[in-house]
Amino acid sequence: MSDSPVWHPFTQHGLGDAIPAVLRAEGAALFTADGRRIIDAISSWWVTTHGHCHPRIMAAIREQSERLDQLIFAGWTHEPAEAVARGLRAIMPDALTRVFFSDSGSTSVEVALKMALGFWANRGEARQRIVVMDRSYHGDTIGAMSVGARGVFNAPYAPLLFDVSRVPFPAGDPQATLDVLEAECAGGAAAFIVEPLLLGAGGMLVYSPEVLAQMRAICGAHGTLFIADEVMTGWGRTGTLLACEQADVVPDLLCLSKGLTGGALPLAVTMASEAIWDAHYSQDRSRSFFHSSSYTANPIACAAAAANLAIWRKEPVLDRVEQLAARQTRQMAALASHPAIASLRQCGTIVAMELGGGDATYLSDLGPRLLRYFRDAGVLLRPLGNTVYVMPPYCIDDADLDTIYAAIAAAADAHS
Ligand SMILES: *Cc1c(COP(=O)(O)O)cnc(C)c1O
Repeated sequence: MSDSPVWHPFTQHGLGDAIPAVLRAEGAALFTADGRRIIDAISSWWVTTHGHCHPRIMAAIREQSERLDQLIFAGWTHEPAEAVARGLRAIMPDALTRVFFSDSGSTSVEVALKMALGFWANRGEARQRIVVMDRSYHGDTIGAMSVGARGVFNAPYAPLLFDVSRVPFPAGDPQATLDVLEAECAGGAAAFIVEPLLLGAGGMLVYSPEVLAQMRAICGAHGTLFIADEVMTGWGRTGTLLACEQADVVPDLLCLSKGLTGGALPLAVTMASEAIWDAHYSQDRSRSFFHSSSYTANPIACAAAAANLAIWRKEPVLDRVEQLAARQTRQMAALASHPAIASLRQCGTIVAMELGGGDATYLSDLGPRLLRYFRDAGVLLRPLGNTVYVMPPYCIDDADLDTIYAAIAAAADAHS
């Protein structure tokens, strides 16, 4: 495929790896142009929740595509967007009364950051500082990169990134995290943005609901807006609809994307509290929320999201999530004593581990070698450096899970 003009994301074309073409997908399986069946063990980059090509979602897309394809969303509306907003209001925390649409997780984060600063600006208070957690990932647009971890991924773009305050990841010593957060909030921070319970791209790092609850309480005590980036953790991934639920946390702003359409089409929302809406609500147009993109609330994407919400209402999704979590626990137990596997951990439907010793970085050779190894074994796993994680669609069957874990065990054998 070296004659293809396509430039792939997060791909070093100079390494010369073949880029497989996929023709079709169903449930947890991808079918390639060269006739292979590949198990999608990472839900096509964390988006596919129920499984590929869920019939309800595909039907909704088909039907909507014959009725209304696209509509300007400034000052106009359509039923699929209204249905998504109503559906979200029904299942998301009551205090999140407003739904703003965008197209991706990154843009939902940009929107949350702009709403937070807009809130303070419109109230005439000079609070502008954003606080973030070390090792976080919030997306690849400039604002989302600014609030994420700095490193090889964004070093060349550092001049474009704005300055933020950082609290440490609450690993061994959560008190240090809480103390730094307390100082920043007391100093008048505008907002704190965090991935609840699980830092995804930062390496599938898990922290406790207690710490999450304490961080939320600290922000609340100082009026610092609490932004929950549930782009990855939302839609059942961590065992509950939202990770925040496990800590009884209600954020001021909530970012959702990935599983919002069940993983079928790009769409995102930022949900906001009434206070944030109120700060923008005015007869004065200069206080409007100035943000849009051409495809805001695209009707076909919204129809897919409405179908996803219907699946959550009508199908036993949380039972499936619970069962997948239990099956993952059983599978990971077999790896617990492997000498080449360390830091085995689970958060809901996600299992992660370090393979081949803890000193490999994202750029070490191990990552690409593992990627090829798994691909040749018929499993789509995409390690973060030497962090191997399994995040399958909820419909995956035991035979496929067995294959995934057998491939991981074999990779560990080869690297021990
Ligand atoms: C994936 C991700 C994003 C970015 O979402 P995109 O749709 O890729 O822009 C933001 N935050 C978190 C926590 C994510 O995992």
